[in-house]
Amino acid sequence: MRGFWVSVAALAVSAPAFAPASAQALRGEVQEQMPSLMAIYQDLHANPELSFMEVRSAGILAAEARKLGFSVTEKVGGTGVVAVMKNGDGPVVMVRADMDGLPVTEQTGLPGASKVRVTTAEGVETGVMHACGHDTHMTAWIGVARLMAANKDKWSGTLVMIGQPAEERGAGARMMLEDGLYTRFPKPEYVLAFHDAAQFPAGKIGYTPGYALANVDSVDILVKGVGGHGAYPQATKDPIVLASRIVGALQTLVSREISPLDSAVVTVGSFHAGAKHNIISDEARLQLTVRSYTDTVRDHLLDGIARIAKGEAIAAGIPDDRMPVVTVQRDEYTPATYNTPAFTEEMAAFLKTSFGEERVVQMPPVMGGEDFGRFGREDKSIKSLIVWVGGVPQAEYDAAKKEGRTLPSLHSPFWAPDAPAVISTATEALTAMTMKLMGKGAS
Ligand SMILES: [Zn+2]
Ligand SMILES: [Zn+2]
Repeated sequence: MRGFWVSVAALAVSAPAFAPASAQALRGEVQEQMPSLMAIYQDLHANPELSFMEVRSAGILAAEARKLGFSVTEKVGGTGVVAVMKNGDGPVVMVRADMDGLPVTEQTGLPGASKVRVTTAEGVETGVMHACGHDTHMTAWIGVARLMAANKDKWSGTLVMIGQPAEERGAGARMMLEDGLYTRFPKPEYVLAFHDAAQFPAGKIGYTPGYALANVDSVDILVKGVGGHGAYPQATKDPIVLASRIVGALQTLVSREISPLDSAVVTVGSFHAGAKHNIISDEARLQLTVRSYTDTVRDHLLDGIARIAKGEAIAAGIPDDRMPVVTVQRDEYTPATYNTPAFTEEMAAFLKTSFGEERVVQMPPVMGGEDFGRFGREDKSIKSLIVWVGGVPQAEYDAAKKEGRTLPSLHSPFWAPDAPAVISTATEALTAMTMKLMGKGAS
């Protein structure tokens, strides 16, 4: 708690502890690192690894941190890396990068494109790509580690840097926490991260006070019927008709039961049933994604899905022993990401002093998911912030706007961020914020 109050006091002083003059110095140090960081980026980009399999990537982060004098522990929550640098009294600040790639076959056509192919645990052969830009996250993480180690005389406190596995499966943050991230290692008062952004120009920084990303739940519904001949429906209970009614009724959850002022999504992304024209199947399967910000709305949606499925089955005359089975995939639940509002505003104001007003912009929340939110939810006293760093090359952004073209999103096989801009901006922004929280005073 002591460090907490020290830091709040530091934030409140009018002369910034990390002044624009030192911001210039930091920018110079980032630029010196860029050739080496870009070599690491190209290696990570060409060698992406799927969730839970980030062994090589974790090894690169661990080796870099060890060289810099961090105390490094590997295999925390699967392939997770925890690197700790204790440097006197002061707050504990945690900086996180996620490490996993996606089962996407890269189609950017760029010289350094990933050619990696794997067969997944489900037996599907696929390309692997850093289509979410986690390679830029890992590279900037190394940049931050180097700059914090090189500037040890300017800060005091404990820096915890983590490489997190399996973000894309919504599992890695939980696995690290369950493996003692906050008990075996110093528990942070501040947690920081960034995500590259596919919707705004390279080098811009976006921030969202409060809810920034959504609760994400995956729900499966097994709709049971009574199968039979397609010509004799009176002798069956048709699960396709019932599942269709369920899909229709689910649309009323958000439109009729949730306040228009709350955000929520219920999407049925998959509907499978039947095998032949003239057979009434005995089951249908639905897969849903369910999004919200607050726990109250989330509970209402999940309860409502179960209620609607059962209610429609009763209305269809399904026997009691063949009621729908609704399964919420609890292991892959991603809780909403909440940026501590006052802390976010303070950090944004600080970033504006070094990057300028036009490069640091407030962004609306999105219904995407990101399990970074878990690190701040563990304890209400933890101040948490994830910022966006734009990755669209400026020329590409301008051309798309002019031609009314949509840009490739994150997870697209065509997503090709301006990596030098993302990495240099993120390295500088994360280092500057960390220094601001732990800085010894004007340098
Ligand atoms: Zn992603
Ligand atoms: Zn991501």
